[in-house]
Amino acid sequence: MDLVLAHKRSMKVAEKLGLTIATQTTFATAVSEISRTLIEHTDGGILVIGVLQDKTRYSLVATVSFDAAVQFTNADAGFYYAQKLVPEFELINGVKGNLIEMKIGIPRSLRLDKIKIELLGKYFESQEPLNAYEEIKLRNVNLNRMADLKDEELKQSRLVDEKKTEFISVASHEIKTPMTVLKAYTQVAKATKEPISEKLRGLLDKIDLQSTKLMTLVQQLMDISRIENGNLQYNLERVELNVFLQEQLVVMRQILPNHELLDSFGHDVLVEIDELRLEQVFSNLIGNAAKYSDKHTQIIITTRILEDGHVCISITDHGMGISSENLGAIFEKFYRTQDVVSSHSGLGMGLFVSSKIIADHRGKIWVESDLGKGSSFHFTLPIVKS
Ligand code: ADP
Repeated sequence: MDLVLAHKRSMKVAEKLGLTIATQTTFATAVSEISRTLIEHTDGGILVIGVLQDKTRYSLVATVSFDAAVQFTNADAGFYYAQKLVPEFELINGVKGNLIEMKIGIPRSLRLDKIKIELLGKYFESQEPLNAYEEIKLRNVNLNRMADLKDEELKQSRLVDEKKTEFISVASHEIKTPMTVLKAYTQVAKATKEPISEKLRGLLDKIDLQSTKLMTLVQQLMDISRIENGNLQYNLERVELNVFLQEQLVVMRQILPNHELLDSFGHDVLVEIDELRLEQVFSNLIGNAAKYSDKHTQIIITTRILEDGHVCISITDHGMGISSENLGAIFEKFYRTQDVVSSHSGLGMGLFVSSKIIADHRGKIWVESDLGKGSSFHFTLPIVKS
């Protein structure tokens, strides 16, 4: 409660309504007296000034609400005096709080109506704050309003996000079932003992390759919804890293016959990994290295033991590289750099899923790259002490 503000505001409202100077002063004095008395008792209290319609009559009203613990008696001079000033004065003691209502009838001759009241409301809304205290209060109200709005926006975007995750989950499951059947039939057809032409065998190989690609995409989509739902599960086993990597390289060399895959491993170490998930990371990184570099270039896979008890696995290519402004974003979900969008197929899911898998293995993943020269993707895994 601010005494000067209470006086100025009540004076201004009465003046704007067209009441006589005597009535303006009477009303403002009554409001000030109650405000002053309240300030003597408490720091709290809220003053509301407005116009009330009772059938066809309008009244100027000031209500002051305050804590139930604050009790006014006629020994409070201001309280006693205010009652004498306004024609209608009421003190309502409630359980949750007390309220004082002061009313002055507005003469019919002033011809007040809804439109005039609305205009008056607009006038006060557009008024500059009277003092610093009111300015802060106003800003506070605005800030609270903005915070509420932001809260609501956040809620909405979470809802949309949940719906999107649900859609991805349902859609990928729906695609996976017919894809599995298609792939199985292709394999059966390829394995048939009946004579088939070379041309048909070539076509079957193409269907097989493309359905494998599609299955990988569907798998990534399913992983994304699992990550969002916190359902990515791991079957951890202790394995010798170099042995595991060599096995992966045998497969990758077959899949990528147009690139030269070189390896240079440090001492072998034990790591605790989910082999299938690490296979996914490995084939994503080597697959990218091949996808974003020219045919017949080298891809180098190295391991190196770090002093902090981790082993670092690096995959280096001599491809197109990534600009420094894109380096931070490529591990984000669905992120693809502008220069590959139209030239290379992909959905920007691989690195997001890989980074999640590595983080869940208590490792780190990062990239170093020189635009036009190539990239090195590194990830670490904790070494298990044998
Ligand atoms: P995708 O390859 O399907 O687009 P990823 O999540 O695997 O999805 O990669 C995200 C983006 O990072 C790619 O679109 C590409 O812009 C960039 N990127 C990844 N690996 C490489 C690489 N070895 N060389 C150059 N750019 C790469």
